[in-house]
Amino acid sequence: MSAIVDAIHNLGGGSKQEVGVEQPLRDNPSFVLRGIHDTYYEDRAIPAVGPHDVLIEISKTGICGSDVHYHEHACIGDFVLGEPMVLGHESSGIIVRVGASVKTHKLGDRVSLEPGVSCRTCPACKSGHYELCPDMQFAATPPFTGGTLGRYYSLPSDIAHLIPDSMTMEDGAMIEPLAVGVHSVSNLAGVKAGQIVAVFGAGPVGLLCMAVAKALGASQVIAIDINAGRLEFAGNYAASSTFLPPPLEPNEKRMDYSRRATGLLRAKLGLPERGTGAVDVVIEASGAEVCVQMGCFLVKEQGKYVQVGMGSPDVQIPLTSLATKQATFVGSFRYGSGDYPLAISLVASGKIDLKPLVTHRYEFTEAVEAFAATKDGKGRDGKGIIKAIINCPK
Ligand SMILES: [Zn+2]
Ligand SMILES: [Zn+2]
Repeated sequence: MSAIVDAIHNLGGGSKQEVGVEQPLRDNPSFVLRGIHDTYYEDRAIPAVGPHDVLIEISKTGICGSDVHYHEHACIGDFVLGEPMVLGHESSGIIVRVGASVKTHKLGDRVSLEPGVSCRTCPACKSGHYELCPDMQFAATPPFTGGTLGRYYSLPSDIAHLIPDSMTMEDGAMIEPLAVGVHSVSNLAGVKAGQIVAVFGAGPVGLLCMAVAKALGASQVIAIDINAGRLEFAGNYAASSTFLPPPLEPNEKRMDYSRRATGLLRAKLGLPERGTGAVDVVIEASGAEVCVQMGCFLVKEQGKYVQVGMGSPDVQIPLTSLATKQATFVGSFRYGSGDYPLAISLVASGKIDLKPLVTHRYEFTEAVEAFAATKDGKGRDGKGIIKAIINCPK
């Protein structure tokens, strides 16, 4: 029985139910965080399905750095865990209930979940930037207590994005972090064919930013990371060149280091400071202060710098360098209008391959192990984890 259910959730192509026939719902086992390293399984109430909603039976859920951060610290910045919260927000699943007014979805449809429900009426929502909605209810983000590491999740139908049969349910779960890359590289940086793009940080989001830049036709995609193994992976995946920054010298100030390391990067890759052949776009996906500084030095005149990584909250930036180049420095938060559809189309058309990034898989009952392994960056096979995926409950 479980092998059949597994096959359905792996391959998709419709659930076990006949089209148009509702099957009875089951229990809703959920993986709940109550405090630092304090998790438990609980049978939670099945979420309500309003007239414009669909109920999704979860297939696959990727573990994200933010999930691990909540597991380790019970907070991220101002988002502090209060009530026990279900973890998980990178998921795919199958539609098992359709709200009375929904015309776009049917039972058995395979979807990628966009796990943030905005208010739809505030100035940010009305301006088209719903990612900035102050009343967003986002999975696994306090004060909201829902998350996708359970059996069922309910969403308004327009953010339960249909995926084609050519995509696996793991692909569907990976669309969430890919949408972060699409938002920063396409939507905010506006990368165009022929541009030179540098990405700081070769973790999952950095790698996906590189993949988007390549897919959009960047002529060069430069990966920068202090981990040689990650850089090697990036070079085989989507980067056309890589740079391993040197160590900090004793007593060297960070800003001096960043200036020096940027010079070395330019020399190694033959990049001019300005004009043709210089770096048009910097995507900062590490959050490290020296990477922020290097990125500001590296971006060319009138270039774009996009901050995706969340790391040190207070960093010193070389303001004169940005000002005298008239460079644009822009923040990036999650994803917004059009990002999921573009992410899905880049994968469906074969321009981005997500499969190499899924390195480890765990059962639902092994969630604690999956979190510990993702934090350590190593699976039980001793190999480095890029993305670990948790299977749906049996
Ligand atoms: Zn995430
Ligand atoms: Zn809003």
